[in-house]
Amino acid sequence: RRRGVGRRRRDARRVRPPALRVASVGPHVSDLHVSDPGSGPERTSLEGGWPDAEADGSYEATTRVVDPRGGDRERVVEAALRPRRLAEFPGQPRVRDQLGLLLEAARRRGTPPDHVLLSGPPGLGKTTLAMIIAAELEQPIRVTSGPAIQHAGDLASVLSSLAEGEVLFLDEIHRMSRAAEEMLYLAMEDFRVDVIVGKGPGATAIPLELPPFTVVGATTRSGLLPAPLRDRFGFTGHLDFYATADLVTILERSARLLGVASEPDGVAEIARRARGTPRIANRLLRRVRDWAQIHGADVVDLAAAREALALFDVDERGLDRLDRAVLEALCRRFGGGPVGVANLAVAVGEEADTVETVAEPFLVREGFVVRTPRGRAATPAAWAHLGLAAPAGGTAYLASMLPLDEAGEADAGGRFGG
Ligand code: ADP
Repeated sequence: RRRGVGRRRRDARRVRPPALRVASVGPHVSDLHVSDPGSGPERTSLEGGWPDAEADGSYEATTRVVDPRGGDRERVVEAALRPRRLAEFPGQPRVRDQLGLLLEAARRRGTPPDHVLLSGPPGLGKTTLAMIIAAELEQPIRVTSGPAIQHAGDLASVLSSLAEGEVLFLDEIHRMSRAAEEMLYLAMEDFRVDVIVGKGPGATAIPLELPPFTVVGATTRSGLLPAPLRDRFGFTGHLDFYATADLVTILERSARLLGVASEPDGVAEIARRARGTPRIANRLLRRVRDWAQIHGADVVDLAAAREALALFDVDERGLDRLDRAVLEALCRRFGGGPVGVANLAVAVGEEADTVETVAEPFLVREGFVVRTPRGRAATPAAWAHLGLAAPAGGTAYLASMLPLDEAGEADAGGRFGG
């Protein structure tokens, strides 16, 4: 019976119209963006409005309204707000144009495009772009993630079931196991996997040919990707934080899809405080909508935005309680730094990883914190934001320090990744 279902699914993939079809693979369901919005023609377009996905009043799993990482429940709402085509994807003009070219050329040649790597902090649209790539190529997409692929066998079973031209989206690709990584090298380059049969000296590798397909990898830490893996991607797009104007465009569209009225200054206020991140912008919008509805206004205006964001502790620069706690600890407890991220994390009672991937990139981008080989240090802007006087010696310690790049190496160019 199970087999029958599997076969029907595969057949269905082949004959269905070119909508987004997402099949889930791998053992960790919570790691997957599981959804199949393409199960009927009426659900492939959102323009007619989407049933209020949050009508049940669901709140996200995350406790911070400005956490750029999404919770599992949030993905349902997010799926409804994702742009479906490159032409309706605001922001990231460079990546969008480059991708457009790559996809158009592949389409004209009738061959799958090069493998695509998307890097950048969480919530900027990597998953959205992966789905758009599949939609533009009119191909199905298979979604899985690094943490779900712990054994080479997990990957082998995904790879061997891919159809020709299919898009394989590997989220958090830097978290895949080493053995799976090596299998992926071969699969990406030669469209082949070696299936090992037997053990010890008698083991033999049986090569299995794969139809050509396209890997779309996403990573928040491209510095952690081994060079051989990075080299197998013919195209790498680095997503950057969004300009406020682009967030306004995104928010206006989201408000429309959520069926809530909005005023330009209300939307602009949310955009300014959304840390350049669409996921956060959309989440703040939903909280402001809630506030407006509870207060009988039903319109996202400036007053609603201000009140709701104050309630959720998001200040004028988009900093929330954790960000301010990090700055306070850095300035008050450690005299401005430099201090290691582990110590900083202990001081604010958070995981080092959360401080490093969630709070820090934003604080660095806003010029409140610099990463140096000796640790994190506060800039004059940090002292000023807290309303504190910088130490008597000034912040001269900053001048002698080189910023760190994403891979943790000193780099005068000062690239910062999440
Ligand atoms: P990532 O994979 O980089 O963490 P996602 O692609 O899951 O980010 O995007 C998170 C949310 O932000 C989605 O709900 C999506 O609708 C929204 N989003 C991201 N980028 C854009 C964009 N350019 N335009 C509109 N919405 C966007």
